[in-house]
Amino acid sequence: MTSVGELVLDFRSDTLTQPVPAMKEAMAGAELGDDVYGEDPTTLALQDAVARLTGFEAALFFPTGSMGNLAALLSHAEPGRALFAGACSHIKMYELGSYARIAGLNLIEIDDSHGYLELEVLRRSWCPDLYYMPRPGLVTVENTHNILGGKIYPEAMLARLRQFTQGKDTPLHMDGARILNAARASGRPVRDWTRHVDSVMISLSKGLGAPVGSVLAGSDALIGKALRMRKLLGGGMRQTGMLAAAGHYALNHHLPLLDRDHERCRRVYEHLRDLSWLRATQPETNILILETEAPVAAALREALAARGVKLLALSERKIRIVFHLHISDQACDQLATLIRGWDGQP
Ligand SMILES: *Cc1c(COP(=O)(O)O)cnc(C)c1O
Repeated sequence: MTSVGELVLDFRSDTLTQPVPAMKEAMAGAELGDDVYGEDPTTLALQDAVARLTGFEAALFFPTGSMGNLAALLSHAEPGRALFAGACSHIKMYELGSYARIAGLNLIEIDDSHGYLELEVLRRSWCPDLYYMPRPGLVTVENTHNILGGKIYPEAMLARLRQFTQGKDTPLHMDGARILNAARASGRPVRDWTRHVDSVMISLSKGLGAPVGSVLAGSDALIGKALRMRKLLGGGMRQTGMLAAAGHYALNHHLPLLDRDHERCRRVYEHLRDLSWLRATQPETNILILETEAPVAAALREALAARGVKLLALSERKIRIVFHLHISDQACDQLATLIRGWDGQP
């Protein structure tokens, strides 16, 4: 991670955080057992906590969100079925096509460029009930939406989507890597979303600041299948309590810190919104997307990197800036000043 003295200036992702000392203590002191035998008490406690948080019967710890999502796909839908997922979703873009390569699903891309997978668009893409068309298998939604700028999925929209998918006898999975950002930013419980889906994956290693870990939650039956699928994927782990303890610590202590990330994200947006060569999208959580008029995203990224500030260029015109627990007010001011003062030179 880039830092100048104590100042962390790395805005590439909220996955860059280091465990804080108290989190490391919790990890070192965790009570352990062999989790393949279901005997790691710290992991079992974390899974219980996430099941309660999400209102589901059960939950299962995973090393990564990608594996949690994939286990959900494998558990919900048989090979050959159709997976309806957003064209800009993490499952479609950044998981190596595992939905096809490993789960054997047939992707039907839904335009989510406005930030959400919408019912009307889904309905238009739904497979007709003909013997030579793929049968529906699963619908996935992302909350908050990562590359579309940390957008919160509106509950009413989700409720309508769920009514439709239930009518079609098709399960609905939420990639909720950042659902806790959604919950904090809107001051609402996680259950306001999870009661409308059949499963949710939550990342502990993003804004929450744990080094490793995601949790999949769902019914007892689904999590029973996911346990087998996790083992199939090579994810049966032993003394996972050391990792689960970090996640549990994060859930108990780091939720209020997300509010700070959201405030800082909004402040940087306010500093940049009047620039003529740049369009900043009003952020809802901890991700700020900037679109430049000219194709200069890479040049801007390089100019800032030369001054010790890191961010991601998503395309020729798109920049992603992410706020996390090591980013200070001072770092935000420095970022905004550098972008405002950029003269177009590398
Ligand atoms: C990061 C992320 C994942 C995957 O998590 P990993 O732990 O990096 O595998 C899935 N979905 C979304 C929306 C993410 O941002």
